Amino acid sequence: MDPDKSKCAGRRSNGEPCGKWPMHGQRVCNTHGGSSPQAKAAAERRLQTAQAEQAVATYGLPREIDPREALLEEVYRAAGAVDWLRAQVERLTAEQVIWGKAEEVEKQAGEFPGVDTTHKAAVHVWVELYNRERKHLVDVAKVAIAAGIEERRVRLAEQQGALLAGVIKNILGDLDLSPEQQAMIGTVVPRHLRAVA
Ligand SMILES: [Zn+2]
Repeated sequence: MDPDKSKCAGRRSNGEPCGKWPMHGQRVCNTHGGSSPQAKAAAERRLQTAQAEQAVATYGLPREIDPREALLEEVYRAAGAVDWLRAQVERLTAEQVIWGKAEEVEKQAGEFPGVDTTHKAAVHVWVELYNRERKHLVDVAKVAIAAGIEERRVRLAEQQGALLAGVIKNILGDLDLSPEQQAMIGTVVPRHLRAVA
């Protein structure tokens, strides 16, 4: 009879399958080495990998690479985006932060043609994006560490992501961009940060 795959893979002294339940995350029971430090470490690693795979699915990250690498790259990308968005938020005036532009209507006819702009008390979209990305960065970093990536490597990815965003910021600052080009920065830069990650 085929041995039951869900039961312990070890065998009794008479050669029969062990028949006991394996330990959590293991293929063998306590008697058959499930408690050894190597077995426990391997089990921990398997559980962490499962966690990393789960997080990769949750965040919609690329699946072609090792789930731990995917998490690390997301830390890198998110750190760059946070740094970038922080710079955008810092450039907003106190009023802009609170009074978002709700809509803009161009009036062709009527007594006073022109653009009608409605402002309403709402957090500026950049502030919202910044807060959302910041929370995401904290979450991904936490998951990465829980998945067994050394904290040192996670912090390094954060620093490198922020470094890259800083470089882009400086390059764009040195270029004499037209208002149209400047308006595109907000969409172009995050897109490419995503592509690099
Ligand atoms: Zn056993």
